[in-house]
Order: sequence, then C-alpha cells, then structure tokens
Amino acid sequence: DLFGTERVNSRGVDLADPEELAPLGREMDRAAAQRWEAAPIVGGQARRRGTPTEIVDPADRRRVVGEAHWAGPDDVDAALARATRAHPDWARTPVEARAAALERAADELEQRFGEFMGLTVREGGKTVPDAVAEVREAIDFLRYYAVDARRKFAEPIRMPGPTGERNELYLHGRGVFATISPWNQLLALFTGPASAALAAGNCVVAKPAEQTPLMAAAMTRVLHRAGIPEDVFHVLPGDGPSVGEPLLKDPRVAGVAFTGGVDTAKRINRVLAERDGPIIPFIAETGGLNAMIMDSTALPEQAVMDIVQSAFMSAGQRCSALRVLFVQDDIGDRVTRMLTGAMDELRLGDPGELRTDIGPVISPDAKEMLDGHARAMERNAKLLRRAPLDGAGEHGNFVAPAAFEIEGMNALQGEVFGPMLHVVRYDKRRLDEVIDAINATGYGLTHGIHTRIDNTVDYVADRVKAGNTYVNRNMVGSVVGVQPFGGEGLSGTGPKAGGPHYLYRFATERTLTIDT
Ligand code: NAD
Repeated sequence: DLFGTERVNSRGVDLADPEELAPLGREMDRAAAQRWEAAPIVGGQARRRGTPTEIVDPADRRRVVGEAHWAGPDDVDAALARATRAHPDWARTPVEARAAALERAADELEQRFGEFMGLTVREGGKTVPDAVAEVREAIDFLRYYAVDARRKFAEPIRMPGPTGERNELYLHGRGVFATISPWNQLLALFTGPASAALAAGNCVVAKPAEQTPLMAAAMTRVLHRAGIPEDVFHVLPGDGPSVGEPLLKDPRVAGVAFTGGVDTAKRINRVLAERDGPIIPFIAETGGLNAMIMDSTALPEQAVMDIVQSAFMSAGQRCSALRVLFVQDDIGDRVTRMLTGAMDELRLGDPGELRTDIGPVISPDAKEMLDGHARAMERNAKLLRRAPLDGAGEHGNFVAPAAFEIEGMNALQGEVFGPMLHVVRYDKRRLDEVIDAINATGYGLTHGIHTRIDNTVDYVADRVKAGNTYVNRNMVGSVVGVQPFGGEGLSGTGPKAGGPHYLYRFATERTLTIDT
C-alpha cells in the first residue's frame, strides 16, 4: 500500500470546542511557566558546561523560556564516536522495532500535545493554530516514516535470475546521518528528517537551529523514552559555523539532511565537496520566492482570504509562504482594495492568545532585516499597506505585515522571510512573460493559481517550475502523506518530505546474489 492508508494523520485540535481547548490551555500555560533546558545530549547524557545562554520569548524578550548550553568540538566527536559504534546493531535491528519506537514517540507527543504547543508558542513565537499544526506534523512524520519503513525495509525485493541463482535487492541504513534544521518549524522539521533517518536504519546526530534548542532537547528525550537507543540519537545545540560545519566535515558522517536557507545549503555543499571521506547524499530543502497567479475569473473573496493566509500567517515565516502575487490588471484595483482592507483587520499580538492572527518574528535581527526591507520598498516601490501594529508589545520582535506594488520580480533579490507581500499587475495577453519571470528566479518551491478556467490551471501548472502547486486555495500547510512537500532548483534537492520516495534517500541499496 503505497499511500499508507492503514495510517491516519493526527486529528489535531478543534479550536472552536471549549471543552477541548480548556485542558490544552492549562497544559500550554504549564509549559510557558516551566524553565526549559537544552544541552548537548550525547549517549543520553546532558553535557552542561559554563554559563548557559538564556533563550527568550520572541513575543516578549523579557520572558526567559529556558537556557541552552552549546556543544563544543568534544561533543561533536563524542556523538560521532558513539553513533558510529552503534550503527551496525541499529541497522540490523528489525525494522519493526525501529518503526514501533517512532510510533511510541508519536504517541507521547499526542499525550503531551498542549505542552508541546506551549513550547512552540513560547520558543518559536508561533500562534496557537500554528502550534497545533506544528505538533500534528511532527506526529504525522513519525508515523508516516514508521509505516513506510515497514513497507520498504521488512522484505527484500526478489529480482529475476537464471535457475539456480537467487537475486535480492534490499535497503540498508547508510551510517550516521547529520540532520540540520531551521527554527521556523522548530518541532516538525527537527523531527521529520531525523525520524526518516532513524526509520531507515541510520544513527543520527541532530543539529537544531540555534534559535530553538529547547524544543530539540525536549524532543530528543521523547525519542529516547520511546526506545530509540541513546547511542543512536544525539543532539548538538549550537550555531552553524561552530557546530554544524565541524560535524559535516567529519568523514564519519554518511549523509546530510538539511533544511534552511539556500545560501547555507550552497555553503554546506562546498564543505562536503572538500572534506575527506566518502561521497555522501545531501538532501537540502531550502527557501523560495513563491508566486501566485490570479486572473479575473477568480473568486475575489476566496482569493483574498487565501492570499492573506499564505502571505501573512506565521508572520510569513514559512518556506511555502506567498511572496509575489501576480494579479490580472482588470481586477487589480478591486483586489488591492480588498487586500488592504483585510490587512487592516489583522491582529498582531501575543501568539499564545487565540485572537492573535500574527505573532512575532523569531529575533531582533530578523525584525531589523524585515523592517529594512519594508523601508527600501517604500522608497523604491508603491506601498499598498502596512498593517497596524497595535496589540503588539514593545518588547517583542513584531513586524507590521506589508504589501507593496512592484513592477516585476526584478525588484526582489531573493527570499524575504517574513510578512511582506509584493503585488505585480499583469496583462492577460502576457501570461507567458509572467511564467517566464517566475521561472527565471531559479527557485521552485510553491506556486498558487486562482482562476476558474481549467485550461489556465493546466497551462500554468504545466509550465511553472514548482514543487507544490495549489489551485484555488491557500498555498501553505502541506499535509504529510497527502501533499508530499519540497522544491526544485534553488529550493531544494528533493526527495519530497512526507512522500513515498523520501526514505530511499536515507538508505543504501544492496543486491545479494546467491548461487543455490
Ligand atoms: P539557516 O540556513 O540560517 O539555518 C538552518 C540551519 O543550518 C540551522 O540549524 C543553522 O544553524 C545551520 N547552519 C547555518 N550555517 C551552517 C553551516 N555553515 N554549516 C552547517 N550548518 C549551518 O535557515 P533558518 O533561518 O534557520 O531557516 C529559514 C530558512 O529555511 C528559510 O530560507 C526557509 O525558506 C527555509 N525552510 C525551508 C523549508 C523547506 O521545506 N523547503 C522548510 C522550512 C524552512
């Protein structure tokens, strides 16, 4: 069963149901009151040293969420040594045991749903609905790769052969995978690639984003409790240059799964090209300059809702978020009027409150970059709207969502990772030029189409290079096992996360030929 129908995705939470919400709210509050801790966890031991760094709430930097001890060179070495020693046994562990451990980890997340939501809100600055999606996605990845691993690893494929010869093709874990993850999906994208690597019979040394080490440490404990051996999974909090690079340079690393920015991916590619040791797979899932094309047959109310969601929810800090809206010129005025009206209604504020639409961005640096982008756009393009900041506390990293009208894609140098939307009007006779401009960016992550003409859907979807195309809906929030996710070109190497080909990349194929 290629589609994993024996598995169901996590149900999540019905936020409209007060009875469901009340206990969750209490768990979230408890999580917010707790002081979390991150440290290198090597062989199950937290290796604390020196004075830890305080990790603060992006919505109110006076609030300390926890503290982090950063990994040093000896932690990198110790994690690799233990993982390397543990690998032969782990790769020989029946896939059923590996899969069952991942499913137990999913069960624990399900039981502690509110607590993990609370940490998502406080460390990641994500809103309550985003936090639901975050925990759900992590659960779904764990179960999806568990089921898929059983399907792919339990039995070899019998290949044909002459009489007297048996040929079998089977999958085997590669060794020690380094998984390097971003802060913007602090739980799901820490858990997804790591669980795939584990399911496929690899040991893992995980390097989470330096902005969100607390979640990574909490999830590491979940995996260990679930039965992933302590020498099979290690976590090394720290930044890219001091922890990520020394890790990747080590010839004991047999594969890399990275999610983050394209410049970082290119840098890692160079590091891998120059290191000693084997040639290894490099999975990179990076950013995008994602566009939507909206023609005059689109339903404007629906489209504007989808545009607002795609561009501004999660404060635009999603790789899939909409950055450039191409709107057919006949409806340009009407759509921008509706859009700016909708933006005026957006509520910024504490992401822990249900009525908040948009929380903070992750750090003061991110805020500065985004406000700088808005100022530059105000000088060089037409400002359509900056949404009001009321409700957003002065101690948080809040950025007012903004929309600008620009002449074309050339006004943008690359991904703008925040609540910034750019609108381009196009003449319907020039649709091909729009498609060319989108493709010329070199990115290829998500794409949106709003039209009621089927031929246009086919025409555009056939020509725009994008890993995930969404028609007449928003373009964020892919579902594991339903909408396999990932880009092409500058946006990533594939294979698609949450899809039926992902695990193959984490395994090596071996053929056994026996003369019987
Ligand atoms: P980033 O590239 O700055 O960092 C990502 C990770 O790489 C972090 O853990 C970081 O410490 C590490 N890193 C940085 N330099 C390194 C180096 N030289 N060697 C090894 N590791 C290094 O990205 P970010 O700001 O954390 O995340 C946001 C980016 O992630 C955006 O571009 C977004 O589009 C992208 N993203 C992509 C996807 C996807 O599935 N395609 C999903 C989420 C986020």
